[in-house]
Amino acid sequence: MKSHTEELWFQTRKRYEFVDITEKLENALKASGVREGLLLCNAMHITASVFINDAESGLHADFLEWLEEMAPHEPVSAYRHNVGEDNADAHIKRQIFGREVVIAITEGKLHFGPWERVFYGEFDGMRRKRVLVKIIGE
Ligand code: ZN
Repeated sequence: MKSHTEELWFQTRKRYEFVDITEKLENALKASGVREGLLLCNAMHITASVFINDAESGLHADFLEWLEEMAPHEPVSAYRHNVGEDNADAHIKRQIFGREVVIAITEGKLHFGPWERVFYGEFDGMRRKRVLVKIIGE
């Protein structure tokens, strides 16, 4: 069995940002040489997500608006977690959007459904953070 591990680093310019990482995962898959197997990609921080959805800017704006209604950043004093930090909302947003994705690898390619892309979801950005990519198979 082959195995390949990579960490991808990000530093977003904004507090909230969705970054399309599909090509980076395709490059990692190429480097792995795996033709049949699985790719796991997970955020390594508890205020960020990795998720699969459409690369459509209106939808991403809708996501952010909905998340802000569910867990508004302000007032930061509304959260018990915010003692010496202000990112309780980011922990909750990450919980909703999830920690990781697993993608099947078939004939050397990521086996996506129509319009599926992989995104890094940042909810407490403007600092260096990373995701783990683990590929196993043959
Ligand atoms: Zn925190």
